[in-house]
This record gives sequence, structure tokens and C-alpha cells, in this order.
Amino acid sequence: MINDELIQEIGEASLPEAIRIVSGLFPDSTVFSSSLGQEDQVLTDVIFRNDMPVRVFTLDTGRLFGEAYELYDRIVARYKKPVQVFFPDAADVEQFVTEKGMNSFYESVENRKGCCYIRKVKPLNRALEGAKVWITGLRADQSANRENMPLIEWSEEKQLYKFNPLINWSLDDVLDYLKEFNVPYNPLHDKGFISIGCAPCTRAIEPGEDARAGRWWWESSQKECGLHSSVVKVAS
Ligand code: SF4
Repeated sequence: MINDELIQEIGEASLPEAIRIVSGLFPDSTVFSSSLGQEDQVLTDVIFRNDMPVRVFTLDTGRLFGEAYELYDRIVARYKKPVQVFFPDAADVEQFVTEKGMNSFYESVENRKGCCYIRKVKPLNRALEGAKVWITGLRADQSANRENMPLIEWSEEKQLYKFNPLINWSLDDVLDYLKEFNVPYNPLHDKGFISIGCAPCTRAIEPGEDARAGRWWWESSQKECGLHSSVVKVAS
């Protein structure tokens, strides 16, 4: 249903137009996953201010910063639209923490990936059930893993289109948008936190450091949590 011609049209459209085209193709099954980060705040603003037929959700891992929870309430108060919250399965977390400890993610990559799987990947899969399009706020210059991601890609694993409308945006583009439209954002972004995830796994970065350097900084492995894997490229 999404062919090369349409992808070119979407690529040349403005951000609201692009989201309108895609969500119009799948009006009951387009979803947007917000991490409440600054890129996602741009998309939340576009979707809510323009009444797009998109279901917006976020994952509450149970380990987020207090500022993220405060931002959540500010978003709902401002736009008066629902942001669906998905929690991890309680039994999964209970078993994992009982067996491994509260902060076992510092001890091994295996534990860290196990924690991310329980607190993020499984809830994400639940949130994506029934979706045909998954909108993300990924940008190409956030990390080496993302620099070759296309505008739209087909996920064989999830059986849906993954749509990355900000893939060619710079960080300055994002900041300019937030300022122009006075969009609420996490105040930690003003304190050196570029990419914000769970509190124990996120730190501020120094000027010039890679944007993902503040995530799982004690690991040398790829700075990803498994949410954005197993995708087949369709077009850029
Ligand atoms: S980012 Fe850290 S606390 Fe959050 S789910 Fe992953 S390992 Fe667990």
C-alpha cells in the first residue's frame, strides 16, 4: 500500500502533511510511541494540535525521572487528549528484581537487556498490537545505529510500517520547533541530558559527546534498548 511514489510524496511534504498522509491511509491503526523526549514532543504537538487520527502512547518503565512524570501531566493538561500509558507486567518485574536485585543492569549487559526487555520491549509489543503504522521520533544523527534508517521501513518482525518523520531533522530543527510553538519539554534537556530514558541509566553529557553517550554509559555495547531492532528497509 505504501509504494515508492508515495514515499517520495511523503518525503517532500511538510511534517504535518506527511503525518496526515500516512495516518489517513491507516486511520484506525496508526500509533505513535512517545518517550516524552524532545523529538517526541514535536510529534505530539503536531498530532494533537492537528487532530490527527493517531493513538499516542508512552511506556512507563517504573524507573523514569520525576521530571518525565511531571511532563506527562503537563502534556495531558495542555492538549486535553489522552496519552495511553503501558506498564511492564508486574509479575515479570517482581520475578526479575527478586532474582537479580534492584539495579542489576549495572552488573552485566545480559541483566541490562533483560531489564529493558521486561520494562520496555514487552510493553511496546503490547502497545503495538493491531497497529499498521508505528510513528517514531528517531533522528539519523542520534547515533551510528540510526544514521541509515529510512523515512519509512517495513518491520517483518512486527508486521507494520515504521515511520520516522524526523529522520532527517537536526537537533537544532527540533529545538527551533519547540521554541516556535512553545511546546512543553523535559527540563533535564536544559541540563545536558540529550537522550533521556530511565533515571538510573541516563546521565548528562559533555559538549561534543555523542548524543547517546549518556545512555548505559558503563557499557561498550551498542546504546540501544531493543525497541528499534529487526526492521527491513523499504525506502529512504
Ligand atoms: S533503561 Fe535501565 S532501568 Fe530502564 S528498562 Fe533498561 S535497564 Fe531497566
